[in-house]
Amino acid sequence: MTSINGKVAIVTGAASGIGKEIAFELSRAGAAVAIADINLEGARAVAAEIGQAGGRAIGVAMDVTDEDAVNAGTAQVVKELGPVDILVSNAGIQIVNPIENYSYADWKKMLAIHLDGAFLTTRAALPHMYAAGDDGKPRGGTVIYMGSVHSHQASKLKSAYVTAKHGLLGLSRTLAKEGGERGVRSHVVCPGFVRTPLVDRQIPEQAKELGISEEEVIRNVMLGQTVDGIFTTVEDVAQTVRFLCEFPSAALTGQSFVVSHGWHMQ
Ligand code: NAD
Repeated sequence: MTSINGKVAIVTGAASGIGKEIAFELSRAGAAVAIADINLEGARAVAAEIGQAGGRAIGVAMDVTDEDAVNAGTAQVVKELGPVDILVSNAGIQIVNPIENYSYADWKKMLAIHLDGAFLTTRAALPHMYAAGDDGKPRGGTVIYMGSVHSHQASKLKSAYVTAKHGLLGLSRTLAKEGGERGVRSHVVCPGFVRTPLVDRQIPEQAKELGISEEEVIRNVMLGQTVDGIFTTVEDVAQTVRFLCEFPSAALTGQSFVVSHGWHMQ
Protein backbone atom coordinates (compact mmCIF):
# COMPACT_ATOMS: atom_id res chain seq x y z
CA MET A 1 0.00 0.00 0.00
CA THR A 2 1.09 3.54 -0.74
CA SER A 3 0.78 5.86 2.20
CA ILE A 4 -1.43 8.89 1.68
CA ASN A 5 0.13 10.48 4.72
CA GLY A 6 0.75 14.16 3.89
CA LYS A 7 -1.32 14.07 0.67
CA VAL A 8 -3.95 16.72 -0.02
CA ALA A 9 -7.54 15.61 -0.62
CA ILE A 10 -10.65 17.51 -1.68
CA VAL A 11 -13.93 15.83 -0.75
CA THR A 12 -17.04 17.52 -2.14
CA GLY A 13 -20.32 17.29 -0.26
CA ALA A 14 -18.37 16.41 2.87
CA ALA A 15 -20.43 18.48 5.30
CA SER A 16 -22.77 15.48 5.68
CA GLY A 17 -23.26 11.75 5.27
CA ILE A 18 -20.89 9.67 3.15
CA GLY A 19 -18.57 12.55 2.27
CA LYS A 20 -18.09 13.45 5.91
CA GLU A 21 -16.99 9.93 6.81
CA ILE A 22 -14.66 9.82 3.77
CA ALA A 23 -13.07 13.06 4.97
CA PHE A 24 -12.54 11.53 8.43
CA GLU A 25 -11.14 8.29 6.98
CA LEU A 26 -8.66 10.07 4.70
CA SER A 27 -7.65 12.27 7.61
CA ARG A 28 -7.07 9.19 9.80
CA ALA A 29 -4.76 7.97 7.00
CA GLY A 30 -2.78 11.21 7.36
CA ALA A 31 -4.14 13.28 4.47
CA ALA A 32 -4.90 16.99 4.78
CA VAL A 33 -8.55 17.30 3.78
CA ALA A 34 -10.62 20.10 2.25
CA ILE A 35 -14.30 19.78 3.11
CA ALA A 36 -15.82 21.41 0.01
CA ASP A 37 -19.54 21.97 0.31
CA ILE A 38 -22.30 24.38 -0.66
CA ASN A 39 -23.00 24.45 3.09
CA LEU A 40 -19.94 26.38 4.31
CA GLU A 41 -21.04 26.41 7.95
CA GLY A 42 -21.41 22.62 7.88
CA ALA A 43 -18.08 22.24 6.09
CA ARG A 44 -16.32 24.35 8.71
CA ALA A 45 -17.94 22.33 11.50
CA VAL A 46 -16.66 19.05 10.02
CA ALA A 47 -13.19 20.57 9.53
CA ALA A 48 -13.20 21.65 13.18
CA GLU A 49 -14.21 18.12 14.29
CA ILE A 50 -11.35 16.65 12.27
CA GLY A 51 -9.00 19.22 13.79
CA GLN A 52 -10.14 18.25 17.29
CA ALA A 53 -9.44 14.61 16.41
CA GLY A 54 -5.86 15.56 15.54
CA GLY A 55 -6.20 15.88 11.75
CA ARG A 56 -5.67 18.76 9.36
CA ALA A 57 -8.76 20.02 7.53
CA ILE A 58 -10.33 23.18 6.16
CA GLY A 59 -13.90 24.05 5.19
CA VAL A 60 -14.27 25.49 1.70
CA ALA A 61 -17.36 27.07 0.10
CA MET A 62 -18.07 25.28 -3.16
CA ASP A 63 -21.22 24.90 -5.21
CA VAL A 64 -20.00 22.19 -7.57
CA THR A 65 -22.35 23.38 -10.33
CA ASP A 66 -20.71 26.82 -10.42
CA GLU A 67 -17.56 26.92 -12.57
CA ASP A 68 -16.11 29.99 -10.86
CA ALA A 69 -16.85 28.66 -7.38
CA VAL A 70 -15.16 25.33 -8.17
CA ASN A 71 -12.06 27.04 -9.58
CA ALA A 72 -11.88 29.52 -6.69
CA GLY A 73 -12.44 26.79 -4.08
CA THR A 74 -9.74 24.58 -5.61
CA ALA A 75 -7.31 27.52 -5.74
CA GLN A 76 -8.01 28.16 -2.05
CA VAL A 77 -7.23 24.54 -1.20
CA VAL A 78 -3.94 24.67 -3.11
CA LYS A 79 -2.98 27.90 -1.36
CA GLU A 80 -3.86 26.69 2.14
CA LEU A 81 -3.01 22.96 1.97
CA GLY A 82 -0.89 22.46 -1.17
CA PRO A 83 -1.41 20.87 -4.61
CA VAL A 84 -4.28 18.41 -4.87
CA ASP A 85 -3.45 14.67 -4.81
CA ILE A 86 -6.91 13.18 -4.25
CA LEU A 87 -10.33 14.31 -5.43
CA VAL A 88 -13.47 12.63 -4.15
CA SER A 89 -16.37 13.98 -6.20
CA ASN A 90 -19.19 13.08 -3.85
CA ALA A 91 -21.68 15.98 -3.62
CA GLY A 92 -25.14 14.85 -4.62
CA ILE A 93 -28.85 15.17 -4.08
CA GLN A 94 -31.89 13.10 -4.93
CA ILE A 95 -35.17 14.12 -6.54
CA VAL A 96 -37.69 11.31 -7.10
CA ASN A 97 -40.64 11.47 -9.48
CA PRO A 98 -42.00 9.40 -12.35
CA ILE A 99 -40.69 10.60 -15.73
CA GLU A 100 -44.02 12.04 -16.82
CA ASN A 101 -44.03 14.32 -13.76
CA TYR A 102 -40.29 15.08 -13.67
CA SER A 103 -39.82 18.81 -14.21
CA TYR A 104 -37.16 19.89 -16.68
CA ALA A 105 -35.76 22.21 -14.01
CA ASP A 106 -35.29 19.27 -11.61
CA TRP A 107 -33.74 17.15 -14.39
CA LYS A 108 -31.21 19.88 -15.16
CA LYS A 109 -30.48 20.44 -11.45
CA MET A 110 -29.73 16.74 -10.96
CA LEU A 111 -27.44 16.50 -13.98
CA ALA A 112 -25.72 19.75 -12.99
CA ILE A 113 -24.83 18.54 -9.49
CA HIS A 114 -23.88 14.98 -10.36
CA LEU A 115 -22.28 15.37 -13.80
CA ASP A 116 -21.28 19.02 -14.24
CA GLY A 117 -19.97 18.95 -10.67
CA ALA A 118 -17.87 15.85 -11.36
CA PHE A 119 -16.48 17.38 -14.55
CA LEU A 120 -15.75 20.82 -13.11
CA THR A 121 -14.01 19.54 -9.98
CA THR A 122 -11.97 17.07 -12.02
CA ARG A 123 -10.89 19.76 -14.48
CA ALA A 124 -9.87 22.05 -11.62
CA ALA A 125 -7.87 19.36 -9.79
CA LEU A 126 -6.11 17.74 -12.74
CA PRO A 127 -3.50 20.44 -13.51
CA HIS A 128 -2.08 19.87 -10.01
CA MET A 129 -1.91 16.10 -10.56
CA TYR A 130 -0.36 16.50 -14.03
CA ALA A 131 2.20 19.08 -12.85
CA ALA A 132 5.80 17.92 -12.48
CA GLY A 133 6.89 16.87 -9.00
CA ASP A 134 10.38 17.21 -7.49
CA ASP A 135 11.63 14.32 -9.65
CA GLY A 136 10.37 16.04 -12.83
CA LYS A 137 7.67 13.41 -13.38
CA PRO A 138 3.92 14.15 -13.18
CA ARG A 139 2.83 14.14 -9.53
CA GLY A 140 -0.18 11.89 -10.29
CA GLY A 141 -3.22 11.37 -8.11
CA THR A 142 -6.49 9.58 -7.57
CA VAL A 143 -9.99 10.68 -8.53
CA ILE A 144 -12.97 8.88 -7.00
CA TYR A 145 -16.51 9.55 -8.20
CA MET A 146 -19.40 8.69 -5.91
CA GLY A 147 -21.59 6.54 -8.10
CA SER A 148 -24.28 4.18 -6.85
CA VAL A 149 -25.78 0.80 -7.55
CA HIS A 150 -27.76 3.10 -9.84
CA SER A 151 -24.59 3.43 -11.95
CA HIS A 152 -25.46 -0.15 -13.01
CA GLN A 153 -29.17 -0.61 -12.41
CA ALA A 154 -32.35 1.40 -12.75
CA SER A 155 -35.15 2.00 -10.26
CA LYS A 156 -38.54 3.57 -10.76
CA LEU A 157 -38.82 7.33 -10.03
CA LYS A 158 -35.06 7.98 -10.40
CA SER A 159 -34.59 8.81 -14.09
CA ALA A 160 -32.19 11.72 -13.62
CA TYR A 161 -30.22 10.03 -10.82
CA VAL A 162 -29.81 6.78 -12.76
CA THR A 163 -28.81 8.69 -15.90
CA ALA A 164 -26.25 10.79 -14.04
CA LYS A 165 -24.79 7.89 -12.07
CA HIS A 166 -24.40 5.84 -15.26
CA GLY A 167 -22.71 8.86 -16.85
CA LEU A 168 -20.01 8.94 -14.18
CA LEU A 169 -18.73 5.57 -15.42
CA GLY A 170 -17.99 7.20 -18.79
CA LEU A 171 -16.18 10.16 -17.27
CA SER A 172 -14.14 7.94 -14.96
CA ARG A 173 -13.10 5.52 -17.70
CA THR A 174 -12.08 8.39 -19.99
CA LEU A 175 -10.01 9.95 -17.20
CA ALA A 176 -8.39 6.57 -16.48
CA LYS A 177 -7.19 6.50 -20.10
CA GLU A 178 -6.17 10.17 -20.36
CA GLY A 179 -4.51 10.21 -16.94
CA GLY A 180 -2.82 6.82 -17.09
CA GLU A 181 0.55 7.94 -18.39
CA ARG A 182 0.54 10.88 -15.99
CA GLY A 183 -0.05 8.80 -12.88
CA VAL A 184 -3.72 9.66 -12.42
CA ARG A 185 -6.10 6.84 -11.55
CA SER A 186 -9.86 7.03 -11.52
CA HIS A 187 -12.69 4.94 -10.07
CA VAL A 188 -16.41 5.00 -9.37
CA VAL A 189 -17.48 3.75 -5.94
CA CYS A 190 -21.06 2.48 -6.06
CA PRO A 191 -22.87 2.16 -2.71
CA GLY A 192 -26.19 0.52 -2.05
CA PHE A 193 -28.56 2.35 0.30
CA VAL A 194 -26.80 4.15 3.17
CA ARG A 195 -28.84 5.78 5.98
CA THR A 196 -27.91 9.44 5.40
CA PRO A 197 -30.16 12.53 5.21
CA LEU A 198 -30.37 11.93 1.43
CA VAL A 199 -31.96 8.50 1.97
CA ASP A 200 -34.04 9.44 5.02
CA ARG A 201 -35.80 12.07 2.91
CA GLN A 202 -36.64 9.49 0.22
CA ILE A 203 -38.42 7.01 2.49
CA PRO A 204 -41.67 8.99 2.97
CA GLU A 205 -41.49 10.32 -0.61
CA GLN A 206 -41.23 6.85 -2.13
CA ALA A 207 -43.93 5.48 0.19
CA LYS A 208 -46.29 8.15 -1.11
CA GLU A 209 -45.36 7.73 -4.79
CA LEU A 210 -45.46 3.91 -4.71
CA GLY A 211 -48.51 3.68 -2.42
CA ILE A 212 -46.80 1.47 0.18
CA SER A 213 -45.74 1.91 3.81
CA GLU A 214 -42.38 3.38 4.83
CA GLU A 215 -41.44 0.04 6.37
CA GLU A 216 -42.13 -1.64 3.00
CA VAL A 217 -39.98 0.95 1.21
CA ILE A 218 -37.06 0.01 3.48
CA ARG A 219 -37.63 -3.75 3.47
CA ASN A 220 -38.64 -4.28 -0.16
CA VAL A 221 -37.46 -1.33 -2.25
CA MET A 222 -34.20 -0.41 -0.51
CA LEU A 223 -32.96 -3.69 0.96
CA GLY A 224 -35.06 -6.31 -0.84
CA GLN A 225 -32.28 -7.40 -3.15
CA THR A 226 -29.41 -7.43 -0.64
CA VAL A 227 -28.14 -10.79 0.62
CA ASP A 228 -28.80 -9.90 4.26
CA GLY A 229 -31.33 -7.06 4.45
CA ILE A 230 -28.72 -4.70 5.92
CA PHE A 231 -27.95 -1.08 4.99
CA THR A 232 -24.48 -0.26 3.68
CA THR A 233 -22.72 2.10 6.13
CA VAL A 234 -20.77 5.31 5.63
CA GLU A 235 -17.77 3.47 7.07
CA ASP A 236 -18.04 0.71 4.42
CA VAL A 237 -17.90 3.33 1.68
CA ALA A 238 -15.15 5.42 3.27
CA GLN A 239 -12.90 2.39 3.79
CA THR A 240 -13.33 1.45 0.12
CA VAL A 241 -12.34 4.96 -0.95
CA ARG A 242 -9.29 4.87 1.33
CA PHE A 243 -8.23 1.48 -0.06
CA LEU A 244 -8.41 2.82 -3.63
CA CYS A 245 -6.45 5.96 -2.73
CA GLU A 246 -3.75 3.86 -1.08
CA PHE A 247 -3.53 1.22 -3.82
CA PRO A 248 -0.02 1.50 -5.25
CA SER A 249 -0.42 1.10 -9.00
CA ALA A 250 -2.65 1.52 -12.03
CA ALA A 251 -3.40 -2.21 -11.88
CA LEU A 252 -6.62 -0.79 -10.49
CA THR A 253 -7.95 2.06 -12.57
CA GLY A 254 -11.11 2.81 -14.51
CA GLN A 255 -13.08 0.43 -12.28
CA SER A 256 -16.36 0.54 -10.49
CA PHE A 257 -16.55 -0.87 -6.96
CA VAL A 258 -19.99 -1.85 -5.76
CA VAL A 259 -20.46 -1.71 -1.97
CA SER A 260 -24.02 -2.93 -1.56
CA HIS A 261 -24.44 -6.12 0.53
CA GLY A 262 -24.78 -8.07 -2.69
CA TRP A 263 -27.65 -6.01 -4.10
CA HIS A 264 -25.71 -5.67 -7.35
CA MET A 265 -23.07 -8.23 -8.33
CA GLN A 266 -20.80 -7.39 -11.26
P1 NAD B 1 -26.12 13.88 2.15
O1 NAD B 1 -27.39 14.59 1.83
O2 NAD B 1 -25.92 13.36 3.53
O3 NAD B 1 -24.86 14.82 1.81
C1 NAD B 1 -24.76 15.49 0.58
C2 NAD B 1 -23.86 16.70 0.74
O4 NAD B 1 -23.73 17.33 -0.54
C3 NAD B 1 -24.43 17.75 1.70
O5 NAD B 1 -23.43 18.16 2.62
C4 NAD B 1 -24.84 18.90 0.78
O6 NAD B 1 -24.72 20.19 1.38
C5 NAD B 1 -23.83 18.74 -0.35
N1 NAD B 1 -24.26 19.37 -1.59
C6 NAD B 1 -25.49 19.35 -2.16
N2 NAD B 1 -25.49 20.09 -3.29
C7 NAD B 1 -24.23 20.57 -3.44
C8 NAD B 1 -23.60 21.39 -4.41
N3 NAD B 1 -24.27 21.89 -5.46
N4 NAD B 1 -22.29 21.70 -4.26
C9 NAD B 1 -21.59 21.22 -3.19
N5 NAD B 1 -22.14 20.46 -2.24
C10 NAD B 1 -23.44 20.13 -2.36
O7 NAD B 1 -26.01 12.71 1.05
P2 NAD B 1 -25.18 11.34 1.01
O8 NAD B 1 -26.15 10.24 1.15
O9 NAD B 1 -24.00 11.39 1.91
O10 NAD B 1 -24.73 11.34 -0.52
C11 NAD B 1 -23.41 11.61 -0.94
C12 NAD B 1 -23.19 10.98 -2.31
O11 NAD B 1 -23.38 9.58 -2.21
C13 NAD B 1 -24.17 11.47 -3.39
O12 NAD B 1 -23.48 11.62 -4.62
C14 NAD B 1 -25.16 10.32 -3.49
O13 NAD B 1 -25.78 10.26 -4.75
C15 NAD B 1 -24.24 9.15 -3.24
N6 NAD B 1 -24.94 7.94 -2.82
C16 NAD B 1 -25.67 7.93 -1.67
C17 NAD B 1 -26.30 6.75 -1.31
C18 NAD B 1 -27.11 6.65 -0.07
O14 NAD B 1 -27.82 5.65 0.09
N7 NAD B 1 -27.06 7.62 0.84
C19 NAD B 1 -26.18 5.60 -2.10
C20 NAD B 1 -25.42 5.65 -3.25
C21 NAD B 1 -24.79 6.83 -3.60
